[in-house]
Amino acid sequence: MPSEQLTIDDLVLLGRGAPDRIRDGRITICAAGWSKTHGFVRIYPTRTSSPLRQWNQVAVPVERNPLDSRPESWKIQGSKSEWNTLDRKIEVVGELKQPDRRRVIRELVSPCVNSINESRVSLGIVRPVEMSGFLDERTDVDDGIQLTLTGPPQQKTKQGYRFQPRLRYRCSGCTAAESHDQQIIEWGCYEWFRKNPGLEAQVFENLRLEDPAYEKHLFVGNQANHRVSYLVITVLRWKRDTP
Ligand SMILES: [Zn+2]
Repeated sequence: MPSEQLTIDDLVLLGRGAPDRIRDGRITICAAGWSKTHGFVRIYPTRTSSPLRQWNQVAVPVERNPLDSRPESWKIQGSKSEWNTLDRKIEVVGELKQPDRRRVIRELVSPCVNSINESRVSLGIVRPVEMSGFLDERTDVDDGIQLTLTGPPQQKTKQGYRFQPRLRYRCSGCTAAESHDQQIIEWGCYEWFRKNPGLEAQVFENLRLEDPAYEKHLFVGNQANHRVSYLVITVLRWKRDTP
């Protein structure tokens, strides 16, 4: 049976996770955003080179992924057979600018991650209060990457870094018994780690976590194999006085 196919032509990209390696060895990125027509959308797998950059508005032909039943999840049509040229299927049609960014995001805010979970939606936005960041040290660093002696050097994935950035926070209408404690997979955090070894803790300044001049929202998503467990895809942020 052919899977459902359509073109989403009003997708605003909100965030991308750090690269992951899937079973067949491809290094892939999970991208996610919002479509006025289709609601929250997750696209996986995508290439690291894709134009699915934050705030870009794109048109992309998608189909269902038989391995992921979450209603928000899609893959690009032909994502495996046409992997090498997949980026060509994504057409950038614009970029969401202010004041539309904050208008769109504020309208999507849920009171708490718990309410997103109770609605059985796999992506959502919350407004954090009492937020702090911390680094968790991995006990299972996968440095297999350095052992690759043949072929082109591969990109490092999240598992290849010693630290995992995490956020502890309450939502604006939090109903959780304790603060949320979630990892943040934002690609930019891991790019900072890659380029600035030894300065990992500075990643939280980059996110403007404690800078009152910045308005912040968290774009969160659950995990395919653990649907009640959410993580932070990106910290959406902008300067409060941005026109
Ligand atoms: Zn909450």
